[in-house]
Amino acid sequence: MARVAVVTGGTRGIGEAISVALKQAGYVVAANYAGNDDRARAFSEVTGIPAYKWDVADYDACVAGIKRVEAELGPVEVIVNNAGITRDATMKKMARAAWDEVLDTNLGGCYNMCKAAWDGMLARGFGRIVNIGSINGQAGQYGQVNYAAAKSGIHGFTKALSQEGAAKGITVNAIAPGYIDTDMVAAVPPEVLAKIVAKIPVGRLGKAEEIARGVLFLVADQGGFITGSTLSINGGQHMY
Ligand code: NDP
Repeated sequence: MARVAVVTGGTRGIGEAISVALKQAGYVVAANYAGNDDRARAFSEVTGIPAYKWDVADYDACVAGIKRVEAELGPVEVIVNNAGITRDATMKKMARAAWDEVLDTNLGGCYNMCKAAWDGMLARGFGRIVNIGSINGQAGQYGQVNYAAAKSGIHGFTKALSQEGAAKGITVNAIAPGYIDTDMVAAVPPEVLAKIVAKIPVGRLGKAEEIARGVLFLVADQGGFITGSTLSINGGQHMY
């Protein structure tokens, strides 16, 4: 039977590409999103993938969301923790709220989703979890102490949880994308973006589909020996 996969932030950007790639590979996909109903509706119309609205920063909402997906589609065996936000500011200007929001969504969301699905994965003896980190969690970035801390935290979270899942058939891995052409990067001022692209050896931004390809590799049934790893997909920007 086809495995059920939940992709958080799965209705646009990198998440959309992941949702579509998983569907094409034969998974039954549930795409979660936060609030952009128009994009979610258009996504579902085009792809035929159902969209589920809940806030990954809200633990109870994640528990209810997983329950609903399981009732409608079947046991969740794959989770891609992709939902993420930025609230950039230098330390001088960063409000506590910008710290909390980014940590609660990007890192807290990983805990909430994994916790909500973990017992089921343990009981069935199978699970595939992929957490989307960032090159900026590996290298740091000016004006992003919140985002870099959350993404760096994802890498530690992945390594720790992978040890708990290792003997139970559950793999937990991370992907650290470099700069990918999505709405998130479109928000970067053009002059700053030009400087960023100049530092990417491949000479361009990455495509969302190039991250999705890594997800397919990590969630495959044949991937049982790959756990606790971070796959850097960044055009050669940092060779970790
Ligand atoms: P986008 O801003 O294009 O899309 C973000 C997605 O996450 C949307 O579907 C959004 O839903 C959803 N989302 C945001 N907050 C929440 C929340 N609280 N609960 C549920 N869903 C939420 O982002 P990208 O596609 O660019 O990025 C995807 C991931 O990849 C993020 O984790 C990001 O940090 C990471 N990343 C991106 C890079 C890039 O260059 N683009 C580089 C490195 C990492 P809605 O549509 O409703 O707003």
